[in-house]
Parts: sequence; C-alpha cells; structure tokens
Amino acid sequence: MAEAQILNGVAMAAEVKGHVAERAAAFAAVSGRPPGLAVVLAGENPASKVYVRSKLKLARELGFHSVDHRPPADISKAGLLDLIASLNADEAIDGVLVQLPLPAHLNADDAIAAIAPEKDVDGFHVVNAGRLFIGKPAFVPCTPLGCIILSKSVHASLEGMNAIVIGRSNLVGRPLLQLLLNENATVTIAHSRSRDLAKLCAQADLVYAAVGKPEMVRADWIKPGATVIDVGINRLPTAEGKTKLVGDVALAEVSQVAGAITPVPGGVGQMTVACLLVNTLRAASAIAGLPKPAV
Ligand code: NAP
Repeated sequence: MAEAQILNGVAMAAEVKGHVAERAAAFAAVSGRPPGLAVVLAGENPASKVYVRSKLKLARELGFHSVDHRPPADISKAGLLDLIASLNADEAIDGVLVQLPLPAHLNADDAIAAIAPEKDVDGFHVVNAGRLFIGKPAFVPCTPLGCIILSKSVHASLEGMNAIVIGRSNLVGRPLLQLLLNENATVTIAHSRSRDLAKLCAQADLVYAAVGKPEMVRADWIKPGATVIDVGINRLPTAEGKTKLVGDVALAEVSQVAGAITPVPGGVGQMTVACLLVNTLRAASAIAGLPKPAV
C-alpha cells in the first residue's frame, strides 16, 4: 500500500485564516467595527500563557479587536464573574473565552455558565452543548470543528462512513461524536472501559484519537485506506534532554496503512486556533444580525 497522504494542518489552517480575515474586513465595513474577542487568563499557568498568546496574536493578524484580561491567580469567584458579566455587556466584544484550567479555588463550570451563550466561542456552555446534542446550530468547540474540516478535506461527504472516536471528553470526544452524527456518519465512541479497541478501530473508515496516550493507536488497528485524525498532544523526553511532541497515533507505522493522516505537530493543533476565530466571526455576525459566514 502507498504511504498515506499527510494532511497539512498548517496549510489548511492558513486557508481558513485567509477566509476569516477577508470576512472580518467585510464585517467591519458593514458594521463600522471589527469583530471582537476577549480572553481571560487568571493566574500564571505557563501552558495557558502560550495558548493565550497565540490566540490573541492570530486575532490581531486577522483584523479582530482583541482584549487580554489577566486577573491575578487569587481573584475571587465574584471578581471573575463580574469581569465575565462586563464582557458579556461590552458591545465591542463578540466572543468571550475563559482560558482553562482556572486556579484551584475557582470552578470552571461556574465561569463557563457565566458567559453569555451567544458569546461562548469555545462552545463549552451547556446551552451550546445541548443545542449541538439536539442537532441545532450551536457554537462548537474548536478542536472537533477543526477535525471535521480536516476530514472533509479528504472526503467531501462523510455520509454513511464508519467513524470511531477514541476519547469521550466534553472538550473533544463528545462534541466530535455529535458533529459526525450531523454529517450522517455512523459513529462508535470508545473510552478507557471499551473492550477490544483494536477490533473496533479496524472497522472504521474514519479514526479520531483524542486520548492523551503517546502513540497508542498502532498500524494493525487500522483498516487499509482509512483516514486517521490525531488529536493527541503528548510531550516526551528525548535522549538529548529536550522534549518532543507526539500524538496518540504511531505516525510512522500507521502512515504505511492509512489513506490519509494528520501529523503531530502540524495537524489538528493548527486548526484549533483558526476555528476560534471562525467562531468569533460567526458570533459577531449573529449579534449584528448579519448572515453567518460559511467559513
Ligand atoms: P481527557 O479529558 O483526558 O480525555 C481522555 C479520554 O481518553 C477519556 O474519555 C478517557 O476515557 C479516554 N482514554 C484514556 N485512556 C484510554 C485508553 N487506554 N483507551 C481508550 N480510551 C482511553 O483528554 P482531552 O482533553 O479530550 O484531550 C485528549 C488529547 O487531545 C490530549 O493529548 C490533549 O492534549 C489533546 N488535545 C489536543 C488539542 C489540539 O488542539 N490538538 C485540543 C484539546 C486536546 P474515560 O472517559 O473512560 O476516562
């Protein structure tokens, strides 16, 4: 079998970003203001700082108004909820993102519940999760949205395909299950208690790995020609004392069997940030009463 097509997340994300920038400019021309994104990062989590920096950088590059709130790690629950309420009320802001994890004394569910559902561009609010569950338009978490865009770069339609999602988190696995159902795929969702994962995977035309276990998915799990989307991001130490990123899929061996595969790094992760700006643009358009752009 020929080697799998490597799905270039960097190039695909660049294409999405180009569309978003164009449509953000068109939105600004009609509305007299650019779409606006507010990010709230409480505390000093180093990984969160990196994520927030890249989200705000991209927002600026694509012509969005962006604001960066950095309350101290000891901010009270009331202080955080007041800040979120002020952003909900701010007419220059269309998307509100509270970076997780929060400091230990704060509850993520409370913070997410405080975000106005129409500004919930991370798609974590129960109103958006519920709307997605019943097949209504909703803000969808960015990583699963990116997975669908990557899958559709290979298959124009996912209708009738057998898909397996490994992992059932609220962030990735569950919303991905719903999105695949909306695409009329036949979906199996697997998790840590699933039996005979290799056998379940072997029936799938589409394999999504969102587990957090380095290179767990092996070549002999994969149906020849299947499309494999690797969400996992795992940091492994190298012999030189550095770290390297690997996914949940054993890329080198699986790419000998799969038809198409996303690499780590350079796959799904690239699409995630781009999809945040897609969601923010959609929020802005809905709030302004304009048609939602099909990006
Ligand atoms: P999570 O909340 O820890 O969920 C992991 C899921 O994997 C759980 O449902 C768990 O099952 C399941 N699981 C654990 N061990 C398993 C096993 N041996 N066999 C089958 N299933 C198993 O993780 P997450 O937030 O969904 O993230 C998953 C991975 O994606 C992580 O590596 C994360 O860093 C990465 N990620 C990447 C992006 C991106 O932009 N590329 C975004 C988000 C996350 P149970 O429910 O039974 O515990």
